[in-house]
Amino acid sequence: MAQFHSLLPVDEEGYYGHFGGAYIPEVLHKNISLLREAFYRYAADESFNRELDTLLRDYVGRPSPLYRANRLSEHYHTNIFLKREDLNHTGAHKINNALGSVLLAKRMGKTRIIAETGAGQHGVATATACALMGMECTVFMGATDVARQKPNVERMMMLGAKVEAVHSGNKTLKDATNEAIRYWCCNPDTYYVIGSTVGPHPYPEMVAHFQSVISKEIRKQLLSQTGSELPDYVIACIGGGSNAAGAFYHFINEHSVRLVAAEAAGLGVDTDKTAATMKTGSEGILHGSKTLVIQDSDGQITEPYSISAGLDYPGVGPLHSYLATSGRSEVIAITDRQALDAAFRLTQTEGIIPALESAHALGVLDVKRFNPDDTVVINLSGRGDKDMHTYMNFKNDYIL
Ligand SMILES: *Cc1c(COP(=O)(O)O)cnc(C)c1O
Repeated sequence: MAQFHSLLPVDEEGYYGHFGGAYIPEVLHKNISLLREAFYRYAADESFNRELDTLLRDYVGRPSPLYRANRLSEHYHTNIFLKREDLNHTGAHKINNALGSVLLAKRMGKTRIIAETGAGQHGVATATACALMGMECTVFMGATDVARQKPNVERMMMLGAKVEAVHSGNKTLKDATNEAIRYWCCNPDTYYVIGSTVGPHPYPEMVAHFQSVISKEIRKQLLSQTGSELPDYVIACIGGGSNAAGAFYHFINEHSVRLVAAEAAGLGVDTDKTAATMKTGSEGILHGSKTLVIQDSDGQITEPYSISAGLDYPGVGPLHSYLATSGRSEVIAITDRQALDAAFRLTQTEGIIPALESAHALGVLDVKRFNPDDTVVINLSGRGDKDMHTYMNFKNDYIL
């Protein structure tokens, strides 16, 4: 049988440098080890990959286009290509992981799926995959988020998922994740679909694997459009790090390609209203892995802030902690205002309304200088429909 081969700098215990690992309660050890076995087995399994590839093509609409943004390129005097994950079914990259994970769950004989969600994007992607594959689905969501993300709650309900409102802590993503882990401990027969490259090993590696289709396609598309499969820069926004992991994956070992991670500065990295984990965080353990987290001097996780719900997470995947601290990636913190500027600029020059998360990646264009002959790939992780309400709060600043 074929052997699974990871291109990530990860060891057998799930460590990226000294970040990662699996810090989990005893009751989950068996579950996690079964999951690890199943993942490595099916990731190398021809019939599994054929089924997943067919779904990605015919259901998600892959390959997503790599679009040369001519007017944006002209404005910034460089060559900008947008990887259009916003055109995927359900509007973002999250469906890539949700389909791979639910398909894996099905192969493992599971019938019940749980997931956590913040803004509701991962909840919708998971509920969609569950509807498609006939699985029972429960999504844990902080009560605050349930109230402020109504359209996604309604989508999940229509898709047949049960939305479980979580009332502990600040009633947001971190609390929903804690609750999902707690539920999983008591119900180890369920399959837990994590929405980003976070959590205990093998989750960060597994989610990066399911998202790696993004950079696999970029290489092919660049080759046919520019004659070279290697760009000078790949830029992606970072919440937990899954769209960035997917966009970086096939370039991590190509040292001529510079990897740029755009995290959310919120109101600024020198304020306490920020979600810039890599710029302001320190080493700690969050949701089963050792990584950079935003915490106070007692090790208490502090509440992050960003205008973008998808980047509003107090940790980051261990892969990104490693890439950033080893110097392989460059981290740039983009403020709410810089993201809004970038979102309106893309909309008015290219006719594409980006997700607020993706707007943070676009914000790098205003911060960094690029040469006229550079090839710059930006991962457009999702579309902006869900953010129209926020954008309209600022319309007077941008619309004449
Ligand atoms: C959830 C989300 C993100 C952030 O999650 P990552 O795991 O860091 O990719 C970014 N963009 C969009 C559109 C999202 O929905």
